[in-house]
Amino acid sequence: MNKRKLFAPCDFLIIVVVALIALCFTLFLFFQNDTSSSVACIKINGEVYREISLNQTQNIDLENNGHHASIHIDNGEVYFSFSDCPDKLCVNQGAISRNGESIVCLPGRFSVSIISSDKENDLDAVIN
Ligand SMILES: [Zn+2]
Repeated sequence: MNKRKLFAPCDFLIIVVVALIALCFTLFLFFQNDTSSSVACIKINGEVYREISLNQTQNIDLENNGHHASIHIDNGEVYFSFSDCPDKLCVNQGAISRNGESIVCLPGRFSVSIISSDKENDLDAVIN
């Protein structure tokens, strides 16, 4: 029974550490999730088709080799609103809103990823 008391301060310490880590993580996500300067980078066949600011509301229709898909950008979120691919994985993945996230439609070879427009100068390096 004395052992239980002995561990109590350690338990408290762990809780504090976990809370601090969670706080840091939340702050990190908060800044990471600042999509005000983010763009949706849409690629077809691995080549950049269009880059659209997440601040806009837009619907982009894509066509590639008989495959069709629509990407919707609204209020900082991006998602496949339509696709005629058989698996529908891209549509089912739902919306993405954070830098670095992406949705890929393998059958149509469409992809959309969120990138920070601050890195625009490095964009060529990232793409190639
Ligand atoms: Zn798909």
